[in-house]
Amino acid sequence: MRVVILGCGGFVGSHLLDNLLDDPRYQIEGWDPEDRKIRRHLVNPRFTLHRTVAHAPEALVEVERAIVHCDVVINLAAICNPADYNTQPLAVIRANLFDVYPIVELCAKHRRWLVSFSTSETYGRTISSYLPASSDADPDLYELREDETPLIMGPIRNQRWTYACAKQMTERLIYAHHTEEGLPFTIIRPLNFFGPRMDYIPTRDGDGVPRVLACFMAALLSGEPMQLVDGGHARRTIVSIYEAVDAIRRVLEKPEASQNQIFNIGNRQNEVTMAELADLMRRTYATITGDPRYNDHPIVTTSAEQFYGKGYEDCDRRMPDIGKAERLLGWVPTMRLPEILLGTMRSYHDEYAVPKAA
Ligand code: UDP
Repeated sequence: MRVVILGCGGFVGSHLLDNLLDDPRYQIEGWDPEDRKIRRHLVNPRFTLHRTVAHAPEALVEVERAIVHCDVVINLAAICNPADYNTQPLAVIRANLFDVYPIVELCAKHRRWLVSFSTSETYGRTISSYLPASSDADPDLYELREDETPLIMGPIRNQRWTYACAKQMTERLIYAHHTEEGLPFTIIRPLNFFGPRMDYIPTRDGDGVPRVLACFMAALLSGEPMQLVDGGHARRTIVSIYEAVDAIRRVLEKPEASQNQIFNIGNRQNEVTMAELADLMRRTYATITGDPRYNDHPIVTTSAEQFYGKGYEDCDRRMPDIGKAERLLGWVPTMRLPEILLGTMRSYHDEYAVPKAA
């Protein structure tokens, strides 16, 4: 199978390459200016990397040639870090909408199957978050169903929603190209994939605020307190990157089932509040290091405005209905959160806490 992957050098792309390149049936052409996470694949004759962004006008001729000759295009290129949504809203809208548009158009022009990575943020907030606390008991008010749940975002001044809105518009563009021009597509809405190589550690190999796993990990590594935004009440469901990549593989191998569908990819069993996640991570780190003092690593609370700046508003809860992925792809994630954290945090520990041999 000839696969084009745009944004192949990031967290998801690097794991997808590990998975697909293990199988001699796959031939991959990728675009990404960054190769740090995928260096081991650069010598693989079944992988070609173009070290540039795919949407650059000078790159598009090559991209079109690759699209014409491939079986499927996977778009992973995005700015997907919540700390950027309200602080660099223009860059976020450009990267997640306008930069993707030429790729959607090329796929439509050549009727090439586009597997597009969207986000669970497309759902925005749950209905139950606007109702009295008791409505939490009714799954219809909080469960996220691909083809039924309304998409609810906050006001324009809360620029946190730039990402969700840009991704939603990209989904709508793809769907419109499908209905009007027959573009074959699959949209994936990831729900908090966790695993090695997810994010940088601030002051070590990047600047700014990464996603929550790396924020908490950075605090554990540096001895600083872990910070809970707005008390850490927000809830997320966490899924292993390995199981998520298995879902993508199933999408690719079952086109008759996966084409023209939207899929939630997440694990319902692994729902935690951010406060619970912080506690579980400090206890996991005590196990990894053998140092029981981490069990009591300090945890403090902070306001969203202090942590992210003006215009941040949180998604309250993300409980996916994954019945469609189960039914059509035969995909059932089983890895529980403690196991996911153990493997992921061990890899961060080995990378950042253990001195490298000279
Ligand atoms: N968060 C937190 N402390 C941190 C970083 C993030 O409490 O140091 C919270 C954040 O406000 C959100 C949740 O953790 O409620 C998940 O944030 P993440 O950056 O992983 O991205 P998201 O799941 O919102 O896409």
